[in-house]
Amino acid sequence: MDNCIFCKIANGEIPSATLYEDGDFRVILDLGPASKGHALILPKTHAANLYELPDELAAKAMVLAKKMGAKLSGALGSDGLNVVQNNGKAAGQTVFHFHIHLIPRNQGDGVGVSWTPGKLTDEVKEEILSKIHA
Ligand code: AMP
Ligand code: ZN
Repeated sequence: MDNCIFCKIANGEIPSATLYEDGDFRVILDLGPASKGHALILPKTHAANLYELPDELAAKAMVLAKKMGAKLSGALGSDGLNVVQNNGKAAGQTVFHFHIHLIPRNQGDGVGVSWTPGKLTDEVKEEILSKIHA
């Protein structure tokens, strides 16, 4: 993708604060961090979102999230970690090159990775189950 900023960052054409790099991925610090240490896992090949990401890279990305999450949390002494991955504008995706957010968390930090829980009704449950199992 010629005009994709994350392609350019992942492949080193644009400099970034790189925490880790291998043949498939670059892990960088987010320029607009939700918390101290907020990092992004970027594949070096372009995929707009999770659905476009080849299975092999999807699997490797989750293993890398585990490794880098542990390393970040250990280095920063964080209490917790959110692993966030947005697909589509409606879900908050703003850069359309697949990425995983690693967001170190601390007790009472007020970082807003949350929602107000609703209630799963029998009607909605049945609707979804019938559509998925159709
Ligand atoms: P999303 O909303 O899931 O698409 O996340 C995009 C993320 O990329 C946001 O957290 C931005 O702060 C971050 N971001 C955008 N441009 C850059 C950049 N050039 N370098 C580092 N992070 C960036
Ligand atoms: Zn890209």
